[in-house]
Amino acid sequence: MENMEVFDVPGKGRGLRATKEMWAGDVLFAEPSFAAVVFDSLAEQVCHNCFRRQPKLHRCGQCKFAQYCNRTCQRAAWEEHKQECAAIKAYGKVPNENIRLAARILWCLDKDGGVMSDNQLTSLDALENHISDMLEDDLKDLKIDIHNFLDYWPHNSRQHKVEEISHLLGVINCNGFSMSDQRGLNAVGVGLFPNLCLYVAAIKVLVFVLSFSQTAVNTLFHTQRRIELRALGKISAGEELTVAYVDFLNVSADRRRLLKEQYFFDCTCKHCTEHIKDDLMMAVKEVDGKKPPEDEVKELTEYSLKMLEKIEKARTEANYHEVVKTCRECLEKQEPVLADTHIYMLRVLSTASEVTAYLQFTEESAGYARKMVDGYMKLYYPNNAALGMATMRAGVTHWQAGLIEVAHSMICKAYAILMVTHGPTHPITKDLEAMRTQTEMELRLFHQNEYVYHSMREAALKNQPMSMRAEPVEEGIKNLFRRK
Ligand SMILES: [Zn+2]
Ligand SMILES: [Zn+2]
Ligand SMILES: [Zn+2]
Repeated sequence: MENMEVFDVPGKGRGLRATKEMWAGDVLFAEPSFAAVVFDSLAEQVCHNCFRRQPKLHRCGQCKFAQYCNRTCQRAAWEEHKQECAAIKAYGKVPNENIRLAARILWCLDKDGGVMSDNQLTSLDALENHISDMLEDDLKDLKIDIHNFLDYWPHNSRQHKVEEISHLLGVINCNGFSMSDQRGLNAVGVGLFPNLCLYVAAIKVLVFVLSFSQTAVNTLFHTQRRIELRALGKISAGEELTVAYVDFLNVSADRRRLLKEQYFFDCTCKHCTEHIKDDLMMAVKEVDGKKPPEDEVKELTEYSLKMLEKIEKARTEANYHEVVKTCRECLEKQEPVLADTHIYMLRVLSTASEVTAYLQFTEESAGYARKMVDGYMKLYYPNNAALGMATMRAGVTHWQAGLIEVAHSMICKAYAILMVTHGPTHPITKDLEAMRTQTEMELRLFHQNEYVYHSMREAALKNQPMSMRAEPVEEGIKNLFRRK
């Protein structure tokens, strides 16, 4: 790698550092996925070749499992699918996503003589499986997966030792990377990027210098999933590279616990060890220099956690009116006591804005979204992908509510962030560019003649609203690697 190198950090183990100066938006590293599969839960909604979400898909006539946009996607996927297709037919059912991915990786490796990539020398053995760190329940799941894998793996394919299978499933478990759909808004599958894994394994600290951006690249034959490692700000030569494994909007103790449980390392970054911004994330409102009594705050904190659980449950059950009711109730209690940067309130605001937008309570939704973005701006670092996505979402909500001035300014802000975090060719950045042009035009019209603007907007809404999302979903992909 010409832009970065692995080095030893005294007392910390391996690290990754820049070998030359870089600027915001520079791509340090890019790699196509070695193999990828669609999640079990979305197998009928997403094309198994290009990972696009499509309302109408065509089923593979042989296995009756794989689904494709059209003939072109089906043909492009055949090389990857043909052994899987026969195996599923013979097995009589479809194994889970981990097993499907493991099998695809082995078929690829067997075909290419065990080489994972041409230009870099990563082998499967070099990747960590963390099986010795696994909790008892996870180990049990792993054993079941191994058992099912052996049942599924065809006799006429090259046979592998149980230890090899176990290692591979362990690697997938801790290095499997979420694949997003064409908009980059939802995780729809899981893939393996072996070189990226090797580099990222050397980055044992959380935070902000880098981000990952996934793009579908059109190659000569088909769409290839590709991942990029991008600089979020200026990086000096020799500076250590760090990346956020989990969303920053957790207090440092929670982040470190998550990192330990899910990625098996102790974060030693400045933000975690010095508890930077923890105070803001738990801040309360001061009235005339006076804070609310401690027991009241404690009670409200516990109440908020309980309500967040309730909201999440109603949301997974698609009980959206219940979600909105609970959010309103919760916010009414939180707003007088908690500061605008309190993460428990921001979580409620995020869900509230998303679900009210879906129910087309657009003005209410815009109000929540605005408060959410105001809070996020004070917490996130400037070029954060989650901040960019949230700002985009808020911009669209304001647009839908006819609040064109705020909408345009938010979309411009989001565009500036995503140019760095996702790059100019990413589909979301392109969407944003189109939205920026459109809102700019509407804003001009609004300034010339508000009446004309509103009547045109109404006509447009009646025709086909500029709706963005079909259903309220978890916002973006905040965690680096997929976890169960
Ligand atoms: Zn497709
Ligand atoms: Zn098939
Ligand atoms: Zn940290």
